[in-house]
Amino acid sequence: MLRTHHCGQLSRDDLGKRVTLAGWVRFQRDHGGVLFFDLADSHGSTQTVCDPEATDREELARLERVLNNIGREYVISVSGVVRERVEGTEDPRNPTGEIEVLIERAEVLSRSKPIPFEVAEQKTSLLPGEELRLRYRYLDLRRREMVNNLRFRSRIISSARRFLESEGFMEVETPMLTRSSCEGARDFLVPSRTMPGQFYALPQSPQLYKQMLMVGGVERYYQIARCFRDEDSRADRQPEFTQLDLEMSFVERDDILALVERMYAQVWKEVLGQELSVPFPRIDLRDALARYGTDAPDMRFGLEMEEVTDLVKEAPYEIFQRALAKGGVVRCINLKASLVKEGDLDGSVGRKEVDRLIEWTKAQGMGGLTWMRMTPEGLSSNIVKYFPEEVCSALAERMGAERGDLLLFLAGPRESVLRAGGQLRLKLARDLGLLQDKGHQFVWVVSCPLFQRDEATGGITSFHHPFVRPVGDSLPEGEDCEGTVGHSYDLVFDGSEIGSGSLRNHDPELQRRVFRILGMDEETVRREFDFFLEALEYGAPPHGGIGMGLDRLCAMLLGCESIREVIAFPKNKRFQSLVDGAPTRVEEAKLSELQLLCLADEEEED
Ligand code: ASP
Repeated sequence: MLRTHHCGQLSRDDLGKRVTLAGWVRFQRDHGGVLFFDLADSHGSTQTVCDPEATDREELARLERVLNNIGREYVISVSGVVRERVEGTEDPRNPTGEIEVLIERAEVLSRSKPIPFEVAEQKTSLLPGEELRLRYRYLDLRRREMVNNLRFRSRIISSARRFLESEGFMEVETPMLTRSSCEGARDFLVPSRTMPGQFYALPQSPQLYKQMLMVGGVERYYQIARCFRDEDSRADRQPEFTQLDLEMSFVERDDILALVERMYAQVWKEVLGQELSVPFPRIDLRDALARYGTDAPDMRFGLEMEEVTDLVKEAPYEIFQRALAKGGVVRCINLKASLVKEGDLDGSVGRKEVDRLIEWTKAQGMGGLTWMRMTPEGLSSNIVKYFPEEVCSALAERMGAERGDLLLFLAGPRESVLRAGGQLRLKLARDLGLLQDKGHQFVWVVSCPLFQRDEATGGITSFHHPFVRPVGDSLPEGEDCEGTVGHSYDLVFDGSEIGSGSLRNHDPELQRRVFRILGMDEETVRREFDFFLEALEYGAPPHGGIGMGLDRLCAMLLGCESIREVIAFPKNKRFQSLVDGAPTRVEEAKLSELQLLCLADEEEED
């Protein structure tokens, strides 16, 4: 080894030891001829010092020849003796802050060009723009925070691996060069050189392979699987991302949910040192939408929406009447006075704050926000006169209104009300700090439909993907399929979907019917899925599984703004890899080898 210790290791216990450290020169300074070098590696940093008073002349001259030619981020090794720092110069924030190494020998192992940005620990606000960090990602990764992010991610993965191995799962690598599939997003295509004009696709997920592994008798498969989706760049998406993917045979839905819960419980204990409460709450998609206005509810705080259309439908209040006349709904959130802490929103939600909420709601595309406050005399507000007393009492009762509570009403088309209500609860939770000290929460969203109608085309599409098994193992004839519920489950973490899975169709006939309902003709099914349907015909066991995103989970646990913070070499928002410049044009010779040039030419001739 080129070192005896790493740079985060030495302490008072090592005083007097002769050691060798190696690392990057993060800071250097000259205090009246005493030269200090902060040497850093991925573990920490140690102060090393060349002290003329403690070094004999000849050695000093030799040392200075080396040390005077050192720049920032040079890689050097130093050998010397551990000694106490001068009293008053200790750094209590640094674990090695009580000692320093008196340099006796130094060697430059590698030089560095002047660095384009500061590598030292610093507040995120002082970091350079992200494009620069991504361009020099290897320098960015030297920052302690980034190394820690990657180490954290690695610990999550290894803990999950250990758990799955102990449960009899085996890790199987499925191909990267696959057949183009219909999982929803656009494929990244790879041209075949040996079969000109033909293409592989990079996998959107290992879905069909993991199912064929089940047909192959693998029974319990997992993989830290890279998935590729050529979607339009949306906020915080990557064209390639990592899923913890698994599949099991001879199981029912709840076996899979319980296994995933046990896995996260172990990961929590090992990596975070915390007990995770299991089983995770489950909620039907329909309820999630109705109460939280989203398919990925954050259920760590209340503020649930309640339907009150039936109570207010006769009240001559114009805003509600207008919404109801168009088939709309009225929903209410009770902003409990007990949630408003002293100092927040004036200790109770005052008029000014309510006005601000109304403006915010309008900016969400809603007509506005109606409010009533609970007083000892009952509900009160400037519009309460439009609501007969019995309506007010019924509202107060349904909403569990207590003194000081503020009832907030949204009226309009059902979809818009639910969406805006969902956003409003999140805003209130943020503004009132309701998530502080709340910890994390997983939730299963279950009972999703198998199919949905594509608003743009009017056609039927899969709600998840075509391989989900319908509840009851059967499908209705004709057009009635929209109400069919699938054996599917989405895993939601703190209000973000981080996983999705289902039981699968192991009966080839059922799978064929799903394809037909999705509007695929015989020819398309034969062309695209014959290989898969054939596999199912050779004795497919009942099976199911799940794919869970790792990037987002790690980013959320670390409190990172973006998943790019937990990916070593992510793409930027335009899906470019700035560190190596991908994607790039390629030489014509390569294109012609792939016969892409002639393809292009042929197209032009057409
Ligand atoms: N293949 C699915 C996905 O990537 C996950 C699953 O159903 O297992 O979303």
